[in-house]
Amino acid sequence: MVAMHRRCVKSLDSSGLPRYNARMNASFALISLGCAKNQVDSEHMVGCMAEAGFRQVEPVEADVLIINTCGFIDPAKEEAINTIFDAVRAREAGEAPAEQKIIVAGCLSQRYAKELSKEMPEVACFMGVDEITRVAEIATACLNGTAEKTYTTKVSTYLPDWGVPRKLISPPHYAYVKIAEGCNHACAYCVIPRIRGGHRSRPQANILKEVRHWVEQGAREINLIAQDTTYYGMDKWEKRGSKTAGVDSSRGESLASLLREINDIPGDFWVRVLYTHPAHWSQELIDTFAQCDKVVKYVDIPLQHIADGILDSMRRKTDGDYIRNLIRNIRAAVPGIGLRTTFISGLPGETEEDHAELRDFIKEFRFERAGVFPYSKEEGSLAAKMKNQVHHATKKRRSNELSMLLAGIADEIGQESIGTRMRVLVDAPGIARGPWDAPDVDGSIHVDPTLPVGEFAEVEIVDSIAYELFADGAEDPDFDEA
Ligand code: SF4
Repeated sequence: MVAMHRRCVKSLDSSGLPRYNARMNASFALISLGCAKNQVDSEHMVGCMAEAGFRQVEPVEADVLIINTCGFIDPAKEEAINTIFDAVRAREAGEAPAEQKIIVAGCLSQRYAKELSKEMPEVACFMGVDEITRVAEIATACLNGTAEKTYTTKVSTYLPDWGVPRKLISPPHYAYVKIAEGCNHACAYCVIPRIRGGHRSRPQANILKEVRHWVEQGAREINLIAQDTTYYGMDKWEKRGSKTAGVDSSRGESLASLLREINDIPGDFWVRVLYTHPAHWSQELIDTFAQCDKVVKYVDIPLQHIADGILDSMRRKTDGDYIRNLIRNIRAAVPGIGLRTTFISGLPGETEEDHAELRDFIKEFRFERAGVFPYSKEEGSLAAKMKNQVHHATKKRRSNELSMLLAGIADEIGQESIGTRMRVLVDAPGIARGPWDAPDVDGSIHVDPTLPVGEFAEVEIVDSIAYELFADGAEDPDFDEA
């Protein structure tokens, strides 16, 4: 079938432009790995492929299979490599078309395209994060047998734009909106700026157009994302935002000005802000959260640690006192706020005292949502070169201890919510999320299965198990009694 496609393509080549379009009925599938930011890229690629005339099918039926990878930490890289090998195996086993073209896109590809293309000749080509809008052209070249092995740029400059076709992977009642791309920080454990480039913000008017569109399409939840949402607009300020500048609309577009404009868009929806950096919180941003009724009372604020020495080593531009004050200020100004954070345990140089300080901090501040990750040594990061690496057994012990502590706090917070009423968004029959639950990240609420999917509902919480809550009318949880 694919060989026939190739003959057809040749006949169209008289224009000099290789085309492979709907007339030939070529099909594609996309597997999206990694975070919500990658998901948006995937959605743009699906949109671009569909607009070029490719039919979307299941991976085992596709003429072109695109795997959009994550390269953030080692487990993500392993997942990506395994997914690629699984696709190659399926093709070799005859479970997928024998001439299926596998394209690897995303962060892993952006970072290691040259090395991977040598090690994985079974892959048709590797494309980086700047090539998203060229995906149909690259897929066509793969089918024509004219593709390069790699399509990457040295420094990423791509910025999502509302004009680029997009098809949601998420259910239609919520959408991610990427407000900026790249990152201007240099956190010691992270290689994202090397993959995604420096921070660049989308124009506010362009984002508002997109938000209005999703709301008109029936979205009840808008999730604003970027590597650092609080840095939004600062790259365009006359005197560029420093690594510790706070959100300040008097200097230009900012997260606060964007939220206020979104808050004025008519419609029954809420807007959630993900990936804020503690260094850029300001009183203006806190006030905006407090005053805008459509802004979900939820703050995603990865803190990573609390000990000054570790925050310094991490290059987080914050210290313990600053973080404690900030959390107290946010909680005082925004009643009912739920704080979601992450911690990294076992960064090089972390002592037992640092670990104890983090443990005490978690006990005192009782975050509504939190996760802890053992430090992962990332090739090319500053921290990977640090001499005083913590033994893996120590990292595991410390992160396990913190995980158990967080699980206990989650349990208590769940119990405290029993008897409260809350507004939830119904994701699927019998499953909803409340204000403190971001999609795919936090917990869920079991609700009356007859509540309409994709709509808000008011429920009363009657039971809880850790992050899972049970509302009136929910079916009994299906426990494994074995
Ligand atoms: S803020 Fe730090 S951790 Fe987050 S993407 Fe930027 S460099 Fe990486």
